[in-house]
Amino acid sequence: MGKTAESVWKNCLNFVKDNIQEQAFKTWFSPIQPIKLNENILTIQVPSKFFYEWLEEHYIKLLKIALQKELGKDAKLVYSIVMDQKYSGKDPYTVKIPSSNREKLQLQEVDAPLPIDSKKVKNPFIIPGLQKIKIDSQLNTNNNFHNFIEGETNRLARSAGKAVAKRPGGTSFNPLFIYGGVGLGKTHLAHAIGLEAKENHPDKTVLYVSTEKFTQQFIDSVQSNNRNDFIHFYQMIDILIIDDVQFLSGKKATQEAFFHIFNHLHQKGNQIILTSDKPPVDIQDMEQRLISRFKWGLSADLQAPDYETRLAILKHKVEKDGLEMPEEVVDHIAKNIKTNVRELEGCLNSIIAQATLNKKEITLELTQKTLSNFINNTRKEISIDYIQRLVCDYFKIPVDQIQSKTRKRDVVQARQLAMFFAKKYTKASLSSIGSQIGNRDHATVLHACKTVKNLSETDKIFRGYVEDINRKITIE
Ligand code: ADP
Ligand code: MG
Repeated sequence: MGKTAESVWKNCLNFVKDNIQEQAFKTWFSPIQPIKLNENILTIQVPSKFFYEWLEEHYIKLLKIALQKELGKDAKLVYSIVMDQKYSGKDPYTVKIPSSNREKLQLQEVDAPLPIDSKKVKNPFIIPGLQKIKIDSQLNTNNNFHNFIEGETNRLARSAGKAVAKRPGGTSFNPLFIYGGVGLGKTHLAHAIGLEAKENHPDKTVLYVSTEKFTQQFIDSVQSNNRNDFIHFYQMIDILIIDDVQFLSGKKATQEAFFHIFNHLHQKGNQIILTSDKPPVDIQDMEQRLISRFKWGLSADLQAPDYETRLAILKHKVEKDGLEMPEEVVDHIAKNIKTNVRELEGCLNSIIAQATLNKKEITLELTQKTLSNFINNTRKEISIDYIQRLVCDYFKIPVDQIQSKTRKRDVVQARQLAMFFAKKYTKASLSSIGSQIGNRDHATVLHACKTVKNLSETDKIFRGYVEDINRKITIE
């Protein structure tokens, strides 16, 4: 006999009823109507947004267990909310919002290895307790693996992250060094690893910290003569995640402290996860002994998402926000916004805002209009793709030539110029530039940059090319 929304919901209710107070059950569960069952997705109708928030806040764990008993591990819940418009005199309408399955993260207790005097510990992550100190892992539950869409361009980093979350400190990926340009998902992935590691290993302490915060804490600790406490605190962490380590560049004393922390943790077999906007070799003003340690484990890069991934990310976001959007609209955005995920989200949000503010339907026309503003405004953020096209245009050679293996002189020159300008005008790392321009490695890009620089100092005609192209990039 097939399951129906009613039968599934009835069994869920029986389970819920046994686990909560009768009054609460009456208040919060009797008014709910099951409306649709689509494979493992159950849609229930709730009377208001407040109702939905209350359920998510107080009963989501219970609902999750009940639903998984009925529909298996991948069970999903979608709320259909009746939006009351009695004040505006319009008919009520409904919106659909999937359950976020969010659970409050628990604080973790650890035994302090030293009799830490809680008054003396200035670390903001420590909440003074009686015998134990509690650590707030600083993880954002919205940045989980479920929300992190897999694609060709993030597969390695994502699966390495998964492996680390499963066996923190137990793989050869220590440290796990994730790098890539802005808005490509480094921070999101770092949180996702922390969250999953915490779920898999509730006894381990996880801490996420940005390099800026880390540096500030270090400076404060030095000023208040607590440098050792600072270092000891970080040496207690089982899984340490430091975001944007490129900001350690030029900060000698902080690098030194980090070096001690790193060594201690690594020796103990604790997991270290680092992110950066460039690969270790390209980080300037960083002590060599740190750079070499960054390379001990695995370096995995995140690249600009391809069309399929962009489409999947957009679809996921539309669904998550309970929106309905024509297929052609989503497709149009995915085809046109290519730089990074943050921009993709920004664009989607501005279309939604346009539609909401002007009470218009989301159509292809509205999207095209919004997008043209978006693309013009962001043109200043020059893409590698754009640079390649411009350089090829200038020398009148087809773009697929510089993407090919050919070593013809004029093509090599165009390729080197494209690499040089990509380094100059984008934030992409050398290896990411190389992989986008003819699938070369970072050393080739570095060599190209040097060659262009040398030639423009010695060869007048060549300098003319560089100046022309530079003008075109900055003006057009
Ligand atoms: P970075 O730290 O590399 O600058 P973020 O992690 O802040 O980038 O990501 C920018 C935005 O894009 C965030 O809102 C993030 O949730 C989203 N995002 C990035 N990658 C993905 C992905 N693979 N799937 C879904 N959302 C993503
Ligand atoms: Mg970031």
